Order: sequence, then structure tokens, then C-alpha cells
Amino acid sequence: MLSVPDYEFWFVTGSQHLYGEEQLKSVAKDAQDIADKLNASGKLPYKVVFKDVMTTADGITKFMKEVNYNDKVAGVITWMHTFSPAKNWIRGTELLQKPLLHLATQYLNNIPYADIDFDYMNLNQSAHGDREYAYINARLQKNNKIVYGYWGDDDVQEEIARWEDVAVAYNESFKVKVARFGDTMRNVAVTEGDKVQAQIQMGWTVDYYGIGDLVKEINAVDSADVDKEYADLESRYEMVQGDNDADKYTHSVRVQLQQYLGIKRFLEKGGYTAFTTNFEDLYGMEQLPGLAAQLLIRDGYGFGAEGDWKTAALGRVMKIMSHNKQTAFMEDYTLDLRKGHEAILGSHMLEVDPSIASDKPRVEVHPLDIGGKADPARLVFTGSEGDAIDVTVSDFRDNFKMISYAVDAHKPEAETPKLPVAKQLWTPKVGLKNGALAWMQAGGGHHTMLSFSLTEEQMEDFATMMHMNKAFIK
Ligand code: MN
Repeated sequence: MLSVPDYEFWFVTGSQHLYGEEQLKSVAKDAQDIADKLNASGKLPYKVVFKDVMTTADGITKFMKEVNYNDKVAGVITWMHTFSPAKNWIRGTELLQKPLLHLATQYLNNIPYADIDFDYMNLNQSAHGDREYAYINARLQKNNKIVYGYWGDDDVQEEIARWEDVAVAYNESFKVKVARFGDTMRNVAVTEGDKVQAQIQMGWTVDYYGIGDLVKEINAVDSADVDKEYADLESRYEMVQGDNDADKYTHSVRVQLQQYLGIKRFLEKGGYTAFTTNFEDLYGMEQLPGLAAQLLIRDGYGFGAEGDWKTAALGRVMKIMSHNKQTAFMEDYTLDLRKGHEAILGSHMLEVDPSIASDKPRVEVHPLDIGGKADPARLVFTGSEGDAIDVTVSDFRDNFKMISYAVDAHKPEAETPKLPVAKQLWTPKVGLKNGALAWMQAGGGHHTMLSFSLTEEQMEDFATMMHMNKAFIK
């Protein structure tokens, strides 16, 4: 898996000097306790570091500048333990260039009726302190996240955990580099878009390369390295020779492994973390990358077919967010419109992510009636069952739009012996008819990312952070 830096989140608490130094010491102690227990919960993917009690505009401004400057810090978590006048936060919050989570919580989760007094009230003012603070974030249009509830509760900790993954994906999004091998498929509209705007807004660098540059890298792969990959393949997957003679089978698989290593080296040299292929641009290549693309996707690279760089970049972002778990490039392939069976069969010609397999993938070699190249090896498997989301991004010139719905994922009702590709079925939770209609009316394309491990809320949070338009079908 392509690695992600070990980010941390800085936690600060808002207060003021009105109530005396003793109260501020208590605020600091409580905040440290919350940070320690959040870390000890084992739920957070990234560490929370308590930094300070913030009481002045100068202090807050200095703090936010340090957050911006420090590459280890993925975002800020704030909490208003007492009343923190929000004008103090204006300048610093305006300067903040990283995700902001406002944890609206209270140190104790009850009202201590027997003992409550004015000392207690001077210390525990989150009820109105959080609203004063939230007002200024709303006024500044910070697109911040608010998580509300008792910090010790499982659901609150899980919300923070999911947001951390989104915030890290936001930071990493500005490092996503897509190598496009060939252009987009001729005449296709939805895979097009404004690459300069994508870089300004989401940080995605999208570079074109001629196929010749890639072919050179593939041809330079050492056959001893292919031997090693072949052995690795045999150890992980089932090798199914089928109707092919042994030489043809082995040759076809080896061609894909050579492509895998060649593309990987090309991407590594340029610092690319996502790529696209196009079956119309294969000059000098023996096969369309099938198994090769699947292995790269498995390793954590984003991928888009037919030159679809938006889905490639989105795929890389979602793989970061999901820790590369059960998050796959997909295409709406064909439909079951019968009442009671309504479903979309998702797949692609070849390039489906084995992270969603529910059985042991088989390495098979079959003809491909498109692209005019030799029979490509590919992984064939059945997808998984459960709750999932399906997501795409379209470009409408005035803005990008993220389109998504929640789906029930299921397995095909029967085998497809004459369609030897990896397959996944799903039905939008709002129903196939309602879901498909809303998707098309919103202008969503046929290339998507399907994820069993991310939530709609996470994708909405990401779209909000990126100032994208949103069509979340519910
Ligand atoms: Mn396609």
C-alpha cells in the first residue's frame, strides 16, 4: 500500500481570564484528560495532541499559523470549555488553511444537582461557549465540522475518528498526482473536465504522457523481476489456465506482470499516486493492462479507465480515507430491471479492485472484444454483500459536483461463464428507479468509486471542505 504520513491533530480549548487563573488550570487539566482518553480509546486513526488553553486573539492567531506551517498537523480540534469570546478567534480562524473540527462537548456528562454552584458554572460553560464560537465559524463560512455530544461516548469518538480520516484525505489530496497514459476516450463527455481548476480546488495534478514513454519503461523490466511477481501471484490467487495452452497462459500473465512493474516504476519515478489508461491508446503494448491495473489498484493507486482522471484522483483520495479497505473503481455495467430483482451489475472490462472480493480471485486469460490486442490476463472474482456507498464527480464548468447514494451491495444471482470479469451488484437504498433517475438528473457519470468502508457523511464532509457542489441522493 502506498503510505500516508503519520499525521496528528492539534487540540485547543477556548477560555478567557474573567474567572481567574485557578479556573484556567482546571480547563487545561480537563482538556489534557480528554485528549489522553481519546487517544487511549483506540478508535482514532491519528493521534490528538493537546496544545493549549486559548484566551487571546494574538495567541489564537499565532497557534493557527503554526498549524498551517507544520506538515505533521492535519487539522485542528477546538472545544470551548468556558465562554471564549469569539472575536478572539476571527483572525486566527480566517488564516487557518486546514480542516477544523469543533467538538461541542462538556467535561462532565451530567448536571451535578446536589453540588452545582457558581464556581462550577464559571468552569463549565460549553453550553453557551460552543454557540458563541460556532457563530463566528458560521459567519466566516469556514466549512468546519461540528461534532456534538459527550466526548466519552462511543458514537462521538467514532464521529471524530471518521472526520480525522477525511481531514487527512484533504491534506493528502493536494499531493495527488495523476499520470494519464493517453487522453480520454474519444467522443466521451463525462470523463472530461477542467484540470487546472481541479488542481486549484482539490490539489490534483494531472499530467499527460505518450504511450511510448511507458512502453519504454515496460520493455526495460527484467524477466527475473517478473519471475518473482509470478511466484507472489501464485501464492495469493488461484491460477486458472482454462482452455488456454500452458505457454499462452503463462505468457499472457507474464505480459501483465511486466506491465505492472513497468507502470509502477514509471509512477514511482514521477511521484504519481494515480493513473489512467485508455484502450484506444495502446500503441506498442501487447495487451490492455488488466491484471496489471488490478494489482496497482490493490497496492493503493487511484485508477480511472478510458482516461478518466477525475475518478482516478477521487479513487486515490478515497483509498487514503478508507486505509485502502474495500474501496473500488467501478462502472455501471448492465441492469436487472425485473420487479423484485432491481440491481446494477457493476464491473469493468478488466480493471476491478480485488479489495472487494468475497472469494479467492482467479487469474484467468480470455479474449477481449475491444482494443484489438492480445488476450489479457485478469483477476476474476465475486464482489461482497453489505452496506456501501457509490460516488462520482462531474465537472459543470462553474464547479465540480459530487454525486452519491448509499447502496445495498449483493452478489450476482448466478455465474456468468461467458463474461469472465470481476462482478459486484448493488441497488441504491432509495430504489433503483429513484436512485438512477436522481443520479442522471444530477449529471453523474457511469464511472464511480464503490466503498464498503466509507460513509456518505464522510464524502459530504470532503466535498464541503473542497467547496464542491453536492448531490447526495437520499
Ligand atoms: Mn469505462
